[in-house]
Amino acid sequence: MTRKIVTIVGARPQFIKAAAVSREILKHPGAIEEVMIHTGQHYDPNMSQVFFDELEIPAPKYNLEVSGGSHGVMTGRMLEGIEKILLEEKPDWVLIYGDTNSTLAGALAASKLHIPVAHVEAGLRSFNMRMPEEINRILSDRVSTLLLCPTDAAVDNLAREGVLQGVRNVGDVMYDVAKYYRERARNESKILQVLGLEEKGFVLTTCHRAENTDSQERLTEILSALSTIAESLPVVLPLHPRTRKLVVDYGLEGFLENLTVVEPLPFLDMVALEQAAKVILTDSGGVQKEAFFYEVPCITMRDETEWVETIELGWNRLVGASRVRILEAYAQSIEPRRAVQGSPYGTGAASQVILEELMKEG
Ligand code: UDP
Repeated sequence: MTRKIVTIVGARPQFIKAAAVSREILKHPGAIEEVMIHTGQHYDPNMSQVFFDELEIPAPKYNLEVSGGSHGVMTGRMLEGIEKILLEEKPDWVLIYGDTNSTLAGALAASKLHIPVAHVEAGLRSFNMRMPEEINRILSDRVSTLLLCPTDAAVDNLAREGVLQGVRNVGDVMYDVAKYYRERARNESKILQVLGLEEKGFVLTTCHRAENTDSQERLTEILSALSTIAESLPVVLPLHPRTRKLVVDYGLEGFLENLTVVEPLPFLDMVALEQAAKVILTDSGGVQKEAFFYEVPCITMRDETEWVETIELGWNRLVGASRVRILEAYAQSIEPRRAVQGSPYGTGAASQVILEELMKEG
C-alpha cells in the first residue's frame, strides 16, 4: 500500500533539507507518495524558486502564499490553509522540518486532526525562550509522533523534557546535503571568478537572526566589526532581505561600503564560497554546520548555539554580538586547526534512515 506523506516547507533552510529527503523518496516509487505544501514564508525568487530549480525539488502541489505579518498572523493563516489541505489529502504522515512558523503551523494542524507528525531536526535547543525558533521547536516536538534527531545532544535534550517515545538519532540531513553537493559546487559554481576572490583569501559572513537584526545595537556592533575585518581581507556578505531592510531603517548603510554585499546566493554558489573561505562569521544554524563539514573555522555571532558539537570539537566560537569579541575571535581563528575526527552528525545517510522510519511507523 502506498504511504502518503504531506511535507511542509516555507523557508530557505527547509527547502535544502527537504531536497535530501525528497530525493530519497523518489527512489521508492509506488511505496511512498509525497505531496508538498509551500507556505510561502520565503517568497523572493532568490530565497525560494532558485532552490527548487537547482536542488531539483519536486514542485509544491500547494502554495499558501502566506508571507509577512506578525508571528501570530503568519502562523494563524498557515494553520488555516494547512488544515484545509490535510482534510482533503488525508496523509499517513505530516513531515515537518526545523523550527520556523511553517514547522509549528504544520505540527498543530496535523496533530489536532490526529495525523502523525514526523519532525526532522527534533530535540535541538538553544535554551533561549526569546527566540521564536525555540518556541516553535519545543511545541512542535511536543506533538510529534516521530522525533528525528540529528545528534545525541538532541536526544538528551528530549530525554530531559521527559520525551522518550518515538525518539531516533537518524543523523543530520544537512550532512547528506553537504556530501552530495560538495564536489558539484566546486566544479560548477563560477562565483569565485565572478566576485574576483582567491581561494582562502576572503571571509564569508551571513546575518539574519531576529535577535541580531531586530536590535539596532547588536546589528551596529556586528557590521562595525565586519567593516574593520574588511580593511585587511575581502568580506563577502550575501544579504538576507530582512537584514537589508533593517540596515536601511537604522541608517547603517555606511558599514556596508567596504564589504562585498551580494543578493542571497543560490545554494551551489554559497557552498562553493563556504569551502573557499578562510573564515566564516555567521548567525545561521545551517552555515555553522556547513563550516564544520568543510573544515573552515567559524565564528558564531550569537549568545548560544544548538550545534554544540562544532564548539566542543574546536571549529566554532560563540562571540555574541560584541564588536570586540568578534575581532578577538577573528584574530585567533586564523590559526590552523586540527582535522575533524569522526562525525557527530552521522554518516551522511540521514534521509535514508528517515524513510525507513516513515515506512515502519504509523
Ligand atoms: N544559504 C544559501 N544562500 C545564502 C545564504 C545561505 O544557499 O545566500 C544556505 C546555507 O548554505 C545553508 C542555509 O541556506 O544551507 C541556511 O539557511 P539560513 O541561514 O537562512 O537558516 P538557518 O540555518 O539559520 O535556519
